[in-house]
Amino acid sequence: MQFETRCVHVGVDKDSAYLSATTPIYPSSTFRWDDLNSNRGFDYTRSGNPTRKALEENLAALEGGIDCRATCTGMSAIAATMHMFQPGDHVIAGHDIYGGTYRLFDAVFRKMGIDFSFVRMGDPENVRRAMTPATKCVWIETPSNPLLNIVDIKAICDVARAGGAISIADNTFLSPYLQRPFEQGCDIVVHSTTKYLNGHSDVVGGCVITRHKEHAERISYLVNALGLACSPFDAWLVLRGVKTLGPRMEAHQRGAMAVANFLNSHANVEHVYYPGLADHPQHELAKRQQRGFGAMLSFDLKGGRPAVEKVLAKLKMFQLAESLGGVESLIEYPDTMSHASMNEAARREAGITAKTLRVSVGIEHPDDLIADLAQALAD
Ligand SMILES: *Cc1c(COP(=O)(O)O)cnc(C)c1O
Repeated sequence: MQFETRCVHVGVDKDSAYLSATTPIYPSSTFRWDDLNSNRGFDYTRSGNPTRKALEENLAALEGGIDCRATCTGMSAIAATMHMFQPGDHVIAGHDIYGGTYRLFDAVFRKMGIDFSFVRMGDPENVRRAMTPATKCVWIETPSNPLLNIVDIKAICDVARAGGAISIADNTFLSPYLQRPFEQGCDIVVHSTTKYLNGHSDVVGGCVITRHKEHAERISYLVNALGLACSPFDAWLVLRGVKTLGPRMEAHQRGAMAVANFLNSHANVEHVYYPGLADHPQHELAKRQQRGFGAMLSFDLKGGRPAVEKVLAKLKMFQLAESLGGVESLIEYPDTMSHASMNEAARREAGITAKTLRVSVGIEHPDDLIADLAQALAD
């Protein structure tokens, strides 16, 4: 089956009683046993649920993994993977990863005895240098948030494997339609399904997808033991969203390319960060390892924070809001919004300035998006 067909069909067929065309929602917390020795595959919804199972089978097929666990948030998916490690273990991550992931690593798991190094992953040599005998995991996020730096997934996975560590990729920003880290040698993929996979800004969720049996068993155990699984209702919403992932991503990208080109030629814009632009420093790498450039972009405004406030006040279609990956276009200010969980020094180190705005381009017609930006940016 081709990707778009998998989106629509894999895992969906769960109703043998009435043959419903879509997956039913099974909100039941518990399931009857036929007798002491057998049940129908589910006993308690924290451990497993038919609606959630449909989503898990679907997402595993989209990334090309063998198993998936759908969790209640993206952060709980990431937390589940970190519980694979023990005090004394060392994890290497990029210096510009998602702010919430940075906070979870730096403020929560560090206290539990896991050691973290944050390096500039644009150069795989920096990862090689940071590897120690205790390094158990290299954490990859590409494109990065909010400045759209690209990490060479295959090169980093090779470094990790050579040093005896596993690699985990947060594939939220592109979705499996545009990037499949397993094909580059990655061991585990996580998503915030809140973003493109659900795609409609109406659910918070996550998932961990594995491709090795021992990881699948460990993650399944941890998600059940920690109680991180998502509700059947949320699973159903994400499953519904995923069916249109392919066409949505195409529409998102069409808008993003148009918006990036418009901003790039605007006199009041200092810099545009979008891997689809030929002058992006890793444009060639993005072309090689991604199937498209995605729909996240950032830009620096001339005039700093006062200019930022003026533009945000004038925008009508772009909603001033965090998050990304929904059908509606959003704009946000990383310095005080999405990246507020990093301290100022860490933000500046990551290249986030007081004049940086981040855009999640929705699926509206590009002409309408550009018209809105044009009136807001006009002097
Ligand atoms: C949103 C996001 C997360 C966290 O997901 P939640 O669903 O908000 O918990 C993690 N990584 C990336 C790249 C994200 O964009």
